[in-house]
Amino acid sequence: MKDAGLRRRFARGEPIFSEGAVPDFAYLIEEGQVEIWVEQRGERLTLAFLGPGEILGEMAVIDRAPRSASATAVGEVIATEIRADQLRERLDEADPILKALLIGLLSRYRRGLRAAGVGPVALLEDSHHLDKLSGDQQRRVADKIRLESELLAAISNGQLAVVFQPVLDVEAGTIAGFEALVRWNHPLRGAVSPGEFITLAEETSLIVPVGQYVLRRACESLRELDLHLKGKAQPWLAVNVSGRQSVLPDFADLMMSAATAANIAPGRLKAEITESLTLDYDRVSLFVARCRQHGIGVSLDDFGTGYSGLAHLNRLDFDSVKLDQSFVRGIPGDSKASALLSGITELIRRLDAEVIAEGVETDAQAQALRRMGVRYLQGWWAGRPRDPLDWAPRLSYTTWDEGQKRTSPPTDQTP
Ligand code: C2E
Ligand code: CA
Ligand code: CA
Repeated sequence: MKDAGLRRRFARGEPIFSEGAVPDFAYLIEEGQVEIWVEQRGERLTLAFLGPGEILGEMAVIDRAPRSASATAVGEVIATEIRADQLRERLDEADPILKALLIGLLSRYRRGLRAAGVGPVALLEDSHHLDKLSGDQQRRVADKIRLESELLAAISNGQLAVVFQPVLDVEAGTIAGFEALVRWNHPLRGAVSPGEFITLAEETSLIVPVGQYVLRRACESLRELDLHLKGKAQPWLAVNVSGRQSVLPDFADLMMSAATAANIAPGRLKAEITESLTLDYDRVSLFVARCRQHGIGVSLDDFGTGYSGLAHLNRLDFDSVKLDQSFVRGIPGDSKASALLSGITELIRRLDAEVIAEGVETDAQAQALRRMGVRYLQGWWAGRPRDPLDWAPRLSYTTWDEGQKRTSPPTDQTP
């Protein structure tokens, strides 16, 4: 494949491309001026002059239709070629909503040209258009757009709720803290899973108001729980912070003020960073540093899923690491999974971070993890996510007896 970004020089008056031609490249003008023109009834009609920094010829490249106008160098022009496949690759990866908008704009542009009688005859036929979205894709785009506007309304309509899932400290025999998880009680769709709408919210800036709402509600709920407990326990509270939020170092300040407003110590909060391959280290480090300043803990979430890897452990300063459920699933039966898990647990401990195992569902898994020295366990075995105040009775007992822990885990088996 030819190298991208090939520079070309056009002499004064030299055509860059002609009306009706099959498009091969779009161009980024580096130097000089380009005239875009069409021929109408034998006359040359100038449509535009473009200069440095502007792109020309991209429309035809995107929808593979013949050039609808000609481009000529006014003086000497230097331009960088943009290959068609370079543009199309980006388009294929683009957000489907953006793609739908672009297809709409392009076909409107083409229709406008046709109505004005501008452009070559080939335009009158339906030439190779940008691959249209299939019926299924269209429906998904429409669903997404709808869900997005409904989610915005859900925040103000009180349809979002926050549930708490406990994290057990198996050494102390107590609930050490909770993870706050959001729930959307949709009036028509019923309970929409965060797996569905958090991903959607993360694609847009909607994650910011959703995150702020969850944070505020979670802190208020912890305060209500405190009032019930009357000092018998002081569980911590972990809040999920998605990449988009953690790129805003301000979110650490927001956590601090949400805690203060709810009258809880900021040191009881933990930020769970759920990140992706595209984690922006500089910004996340800034966020982590700001959390440290406020005494807020930071956990690396979903460790072992392929996104949260060893490189993250090395480069960012976490105080706890949450082992993903996929790690826990294989134990104790699978000896390789067990060896891997105990090795990783040891490694994390050597980095002075706490290990929290997620998705612990069975007694056997819990016992195996305890044997590996994992102190904190989260999962259905310990308790499903529930309304925060439901946990008050369990927190009022400081310990439960060892026998009970082995034979009947302190779990509520309700979904
Ligand atoms: P996560 O942070 O990894 O949260 C744990 C998920 O595993 C939760 O799903 C929880 O209900 C589920 N889970 C807990 N124990 C078990 C178990 O023993 N077995 C199984 N099979 N599942 C278990 P949930 O609540 O559906 O949340 C899904 C994801 O949505 C979360 O994954 C998190 O990434 C995201 N999320 C949830 N709430 C928020 C939020 O407020 N903000 C952000 N940014 N993300 C959130
Ligand atoms: Ca989490
Ligand atoms: Ca997780």
